[in-house]
Amino acid sequence: MDLFEKCFQPLVALQMKDAGFDAYYRVLQSACDSEVVISGRRMMMLGSNNYLGLANDPRVKRAAAEAVERWGAGMGGSRCLNGTTELHAELEKRLARFLRRQDAVFYTSGYLANLGTISSLVQRGEFVLVDRRAHASIQDGAQLSHGEVKRFRHNDMAHLERLLDGCGEAGKLVAVDGVYSMEGEIAPLPRIVELCRRYDARLLVDDAHALGVLGRDGRGTGEHFGLEGEIDIVIGTASKALPGIGGFAAADQAIVEYLRYGQVNRPFLLATAPPASALAGVKAGLDIMEQEPALRRTLWDTTRRVLHALRGMGFDTGNSQTPIIPISTGSIERTFAMWKMLTEDGFFVNVVIPPAVPSGGCLIRLTFTAAHTKEQVDALLAAVERAGAKLGIIPAPPGFVAEELKVAG
Ligand code: PMP
Repeated sequence: MDLFEKCFQPLVALQMKDAGFDAYYRVLQSACDSEVVISGRRMMMLGSNNYLGLANDPRVKRAAAEAVERWGAGMGGSRCLNGTTELHAELEKRLARFLRRQDAVFYTSGYLANLGTISSLVQRGEFVLVDRRAHASIQDGAQLSHGEVKRFRHNDMAHLERLLDGCGEAGKLVAVDGVYSMEGEIAPLPRIVELCRRYDARLLVDDAHALGVLGRDGRGTGEHFGLEGEIDIVIGTASKALPGIGGFAAADQAIVEYLRYGQVNRPFLLATAPPASALAGVKAGLDIMEQEPALRRTLWDTTRRVLHALRGMGFDTGNSQTPIIPISTGSIERTFAMWKMLTEDGFFVNVVIPPAVPSGGCLIRLTFTAAHTKEQVDALLAAVERAGAKLGIIPAPPGFVAEELKVAG
């Protein structure tokens, strides 16, 4: 059979595109902000991870532009050989200080941070225990390691305990998301920590969606639960609340030095360094994150308001407790129908279909940012309620059904 045979098989997302449901690779004509322009039309952006609204902040942009002038556009090589500027060294120190860690190592992306950190630390004869719904970069990091991978059912602590129990005395790493990126759930960290202690396992928490969002000072899931000291390695990304590109692992000095110098961390050693301009923007973003806690308060006010409103309307938003708010829509058809209605009303939302979620468990995923205004959110809620009622996802509000059914004939 020809290797390329698979490329000619029908692909759901492509079939939906051909049917006019063009939900992916939409081309933006403006910066990532609370509104974007697509095909000349303004839309409210509910599909980015720009949690603090800093991606298009003038201070961040100025810092990045100045860094381009000083350091150029690209690094031309890996961190290890020639791609470490003063900015790279400084940002690592800043991130470590912010997270109250001894050190941090900055990768070209968050994806690579998980890939490199997990695969470097877990070696033959050792175990890595991963939540089944953890981010793909954690799963791939585990796969790339030479250790044995065990997957526990999502947030199922009894299952995690059984698996830990079966590992014996060998080295063990438990790897979880702090906040799950599709569901918006927070990991049950207190139980995870307890099990790690009991079974002598090390703990890695990927705080990609928690950094800048959770905890009084935005230090993430550990701060949220008052358990920062119990996490051995925090993985973070500079592409969500922090505005840019890159990712990092923050931990004790010896661990970070091993990741830098151990000669096993190929996703770090063999990838070109992120450009200094991105790091300058991230550093400016970190300053703002620290100096303006009001941004986080705004984000949480919006989050609480939306969760309360959607649940009140009768939507199933799962166990979301964060600015990632999924709406359960069930089938692929109904999900795309809802996507289309919201798109026509001027709202940019994400469609989540298998394999990102189990079959029949499709979602419309909304993410909120500190840049969204009350008026924008009100307009979105009204549109979501209209679409949900029309599609029978929620009961129609009084007076709504008759009018809409008349329109529908
Ligand atoms: N971890 C999680 C939980 C994520 O959601 C993502 C990105 N969506 C990553 C890691 C990868 O980070 P990056 O986008 O910086 O590569």
